[in-house]
Amino acid sequence: MTELWRIKKCDLPAWLNIWREEYELWGARPEGPVMRYGPVADATELVLQVRTRDSAKNMFFPATETMFSFRHDEQGLELNQQLPELKARLLVGLPSCDLQALLVMDNVFGGGGHADPYYSGRRQYTVVVGVACEPGEFFFCQDFGFGPDTPTGADLFLWDDGSNWLAQAFSEAGARLLQAGDWEKVQATVPNRSGPGGWVSADSVARLRERFDDPRWERLGERCLGCGACAYVCPTCHCFDIDDMPHGLEGGERYRRWDTCAFAGFTAAAGHNPRPDQTGRIRQRVMHKLVYGDFRSDRSLCVGCGRCVAACPAGIDIRAIAREAVREKKEVKAGA
Ligand code: SF4
Ligand code: SF4
Repeated sequence: MTELWRIKKCDLPAWLNIWREEYELWGARPEGPVMRYGPVADATELVLQVRTRDSAKNMFFPATETMFSFRHDEQGLELNQQLPELKARLLVGLPSCDLQALLVMDNVFGGGGHADPYYSGRRQYTVVVGVACEPGEFFFCQDFGFGPDTPTGADLFLWDDGSNWLAQAFSEAGARLLQAGDWEKVQATVPNRSGPGGWVSADSVARLRERFDDPRWERLGERCLGCGACAYVCPTCHCFDIDDMPHGLEGGERYRRWDTCAFAGFTAAAGHNPRPDQTGRIRQRVMHKLVYGDFRSDRSLCVGCGRCVAACPAGIDIRAIAREAVREKKEVKAGA
């Protein structure tokens, strides 16, 4: 049994609104035909327990951002770093998979003692409230060792208890949020439901590792359009390219923008492209997500959110690729 706070669901918006003076309130809300994370003026606009089309990575790592501006004249070269304007943000409603993805991104942009100032600044100024999700189509979080009730990575987590939320704080910032309400303390067992899964296993990862030269990649390469939608919606894809935008002859801006191994020019350098076709590119994406992982943290680079499956216009399903690898192995054994 754990000591939890019981918050009536109908009281949640008023409680979150108390914090609007201190924080910009962010969460999932409709944007045209899709759900996306973004700022809201009032907590009643937030939609909880819904899968957004895009992940929350845009909040910390925007698709395009200027890193510094430069100017040169007779006096020499002048550089002006353009760090983001930091506003305290309260991000409400991240499901467990997106919390896990944030931990991956924290390692990428802040691990090894070399913090990326653009990402880390935004991250430090953001308090994250996680919410137990209602797993839907395409989810497969259980394959990565967690489920829809896993609070890891949240400052405060809310479990669904019918007409109430059960809340637990995991940081000082999260505990401080709870102080603004007159909530009842209860002793309760933290929910621990199993999530959807059964697609990716140690066996399928091992089998994929063995299949680097399998002709199946060519068939996937023929289908893959190289559009990059899978990487753009993925909460852990973090590759970027750096370019200059000249402003006349005297100066300009250096900026970075998302890039992905699905794009033809991603690996091109000095007139040579070691991954010249879509076969190598789709293989790289799947292998990096499921087999290679993040070498800095030993974490998987897939958290089972299913966004790439939903977004792919060619119907390429990373879960099915993993499952098929094992099925194929069993078929070979059965026929032997
Ligand atoms: S690879 Fe696909 S399922 Fe895995 S985390 Fe990225 S978008 Fe989600
Ligand atoms: S979304 Fe589908 S078609 Fe587009 S690059 Fe990714 S795998 Fe290829």
